[in-house]
Amino acid sequence: MDDVRLRKPTERNCERCGRQERWTDDSWRVVTIDGERATGSPYCIHEWDIDGTFLPFEAIDGGEQADA
Ligand SMILES: [Zn+2]
Repeated sequence: MDDVRLRKPTERNCERCGRQERWTDDSWRVVTIDGERATGSPYCIHEWDIDGTFLPFEAIDGGEQADA
C-alpha cells in the first residue's frame, strides 16, 4: 500500500543559488536534472526552503476504529 508517509522532508531547495538536494538513506544528495547536477553555488550559504516552514504531520492515531 502507501507507506511513504514520511514525517521529515525528503527534498530541499536553496532559495539563494537553486541547489536541490534529496534525502537518500542517511545523507543529502544533489539532485540531477536532465543529466546536470543542481549543485548551485559552492560558495553559497545555502538557505533551504524547508527551514522553519516544514510542519511535521500530526500523529496519526485512532485509525483502528471499528465500523459503527
Ligand atoms: Zn545555495
